[in-house]
Amino acid sequence: MKRIGFIGIGIMGKAMARNLMKAGYEVAVYTRTKKKAEDIIEEGAVWCEDVKTCARGKDAVITMVGYPKDVEQVYLGDEGILANADKGTCVIDMTTTSPKLSVRIYEEARKAGLYALDAPVTGGDTGAKEGTLTILVGGDREAFERCMPIFQAMGKNIQYEGQAGNGQHTKMCNQIAIAGAISGVCEAMAYAKAQGMDVQLMVDSISTGAAGSAQLKAVAPRILAGDFNPGFFIRHFIKDMRLAKEEAEDRGLALGVLDYVLSMYETMEAEGKGGLGTQALIQYYQW
Ligand code: NAP
Repeated sequence: MKRIGFIGIGIMGKAMARNLMKAGYEVAVYTRTKKKAEDIIEEGAVWCEDVKTCARGKDAVITMVGYPKDVEQVYLGDEGILANADKGTCVIDMTTTSPKLSVRIYEEARKAGLYALDAPVTGGDTGAKEGTLTILVGGDREAFERCMPIFQAMGKNIQYEGQAGNGQHTKMCNQIAIAGAISGVCEAMAYAKAQGMDVQLMVDSISTGAAGSAQLKAVAPRILAGDFNPGFFIRHFIKDMRLAKEEAEDRGLALGVLDYVLSMYETMEAEGKGGLGTQALIQYYQW
């Protein structure tokens, strides 16, 4: 396992590909907007003109694109990964996408003599840069074990979640939990501000107790610094919450907090704020 094709050089993908290069892998890259990959090409990544070139002659092909429609585009059809990767290649989709789509890709990959894993991540842009991502993997255990050194170059907590699609289902659980956590952080901060309190002091005070959380740690400093740039895009979080809602409804499960937080973010997106980071939820409140 030495030659890797990496498709989707965005906020997450670029940092993850860099960590693979640091670990000694030969990394070839393709992404929709070549300009965004110029720096990593200068650092030694090999540019590919299209998906199929990036997929051919590799031990593993990793994808970190945006939406399920992007995943379909890069995997399926004559120009896609499944039709072009060499037999025996491991194809690893790390995008947060539909669990049903992951199962479809797994089945089509098997027919093509490939191994497919769904391996979404959590830990944000910081985790991607620092190589400390949590990686949630579904698919065959044998393929998971083969790919372990690749995952170890990008993450720390690497978990095998079971059959194809279960990596994505675990990520859905993560996003459901985040919806409640991030809205809780924003409501506490809006409350402190409305009381005329020192919000930084309040955050420092509660962060070591029962309300301390990874969301409080990630989101509060950005809000206090007035930094609403995307580490994690609002529009991507909306995509994730819609996927989670759909999967829950398939099982007859109602998730009220998820629904409400989704509606808040949808309102913000309608106001043209989908390109901001998720911490901008504070703008939904008096801030
Ligand atoms: P991003 O910056 O938009 O990166 C996605 C990249 O994939 C973009 O550069 C995009 O190209 C490229 N791409 C999209 N469709 C493509 C296609 N069909 N062919 C080739 N390239 C394509 O987003 P991100 O923040 O890295 O997130 C990527 C995925 O990880 C999303 O599913 C997101 O939900 C998930 N995620 C994000 C975070 C986070 O904190 N950011 C954390 C965990 C999971 P363009 O530049 O042309 O748009």
